[in-house]
Amino acid sequence: MGTVAIVRCGSYSPAEVERAVRTCAELGDFRPRPGTKVLVKPNMLVPADPRSAITTHPEFVRAVIHLLKDCGAEVTVGDSPGFLGCRQVARLTGIADVCRRAGARLASFNDPAALRDAYGAVCTRFEVAREVLEADLVVSLPKLKTHGLMRLTCAVKNMLGCVPGLGKQRLHALFQDPERFGAMLVDLCRAVRPAMTFVDAVTAMEGNGPRNGRPRFVGLVLGSTDPYALDVVASDLVGINPASVPTVAAAHRAGLGPLSPAETPRVGVDPSEVRVADFRQAPLRRMERGPSPLRSLIRDYLIPRPEISAEKCRACLVCGRVCPAGAIGARGDRVRVDYSACIRCYCCDEVCPHGAIQLKVPLYRMFR
Ligand code: SF4
Ligand code: SF4
Repeated sequence: MGTVAIVRCGSYSPAEVERAVRTCAELGDFRPRPGTKVLVKPNMLVPADPRSAITTHPEFVRAVIHLLKDCGAEVTVGDSPGFLGCRQVARLTGIADVCRRAGARLASFNDPAALRDAYGAVCTRFEVAREVLEADLVVSLPKLKTHGLMRLTCAVKNMLGCVPGLGKQRLHALFQDPERFGAMLVDLCRAVRPAMTFVDAVTAMEGNGPRNGRPRFVGLVLGSTDPYALDVVASDLVGINPASVPTVAAAHRAGLGPLSPAETPRVGVDPSEVRVADFRQAPLRRMERGPSPLRSLIRDYLIPRPEISAEKCRACLVCGRVCPAGAIGARGDRVRVDYSACIRCYCCDEVCPHGAIQLKVPLYRMFR
């Protein structure tokens, strides 16, 4: 089991982020050999201002590129966003500018290639971006955020962006149950095998993550060669019971990771000094469907569903393009959701560029 480094970082000033990232690399004994081809995988969910804490901060990406270049590595940066292409989102988040100045190549992440791992618990074959297979090492740079479906998005969940385009939505459709979706993410992480993960937890996202939550200063950078142990430590630091995170539970079932921070070697700052006790969690959302009448009732009345605001919606249909269930379309003069088809995956909520989608519990709405 890998050690998890916890390092303070008080701001996104270049000097401070570089110091924190390099300390994590030293504590994790991570130093790629000269000439190694490294793919750096930030979180580039949607085009967003770095201050919104939706995406990995460009200064964080810059610090990791500098570290890798100093080791003599050849660096490529890439991710598959929720919508738009990698290069467009990189330009709009400031990451493209950082790559150009720091001497890293920006990937297209358009071209899928098969990646197999015979030991996957629920999935043994993935279509990932070709650049993932061409790299000698993958270095993952997740943003620490709450996540409605997975409770937490951090090291393991960040690997979903290795799947280009609508492949991500196909996985949502195939693995609708959160436990199975978490197990699929662990299979994907095991197949990609990130060599090192640096977590941008300087400003994290609390509440309605991963897109519509609030930025929350945490002031930390975490690092580890072990993504499963890292997620245990990260969830504990923001007050989420690690065992309740589907990816942590699935990794534990697969014999890959611990369930509790007490089982995880940590170095750097004492976690008790930096734990954020009042970090707001994501509202509980589940997307199970099934023949059981009780399940159907729960789904129809208690599970939040996406509702589109007629005032805010600009009818761009970005949501319809990412919906794995084909549940969104223009009907009459409005964009509407077919709730009988909707699997409550919330991909639409993550990508709406106009903040027009809100997740609401149908039962509460009946009493308003
Ligand atoms: S809900 Fe958002 S993404 Fe969907 S059509 Fe309206 S503005 Fe576009
Ligand atoms: S409507 Fe939204 S929540 Fe429902 S299946 Fe489509 S993307 Fe998922």
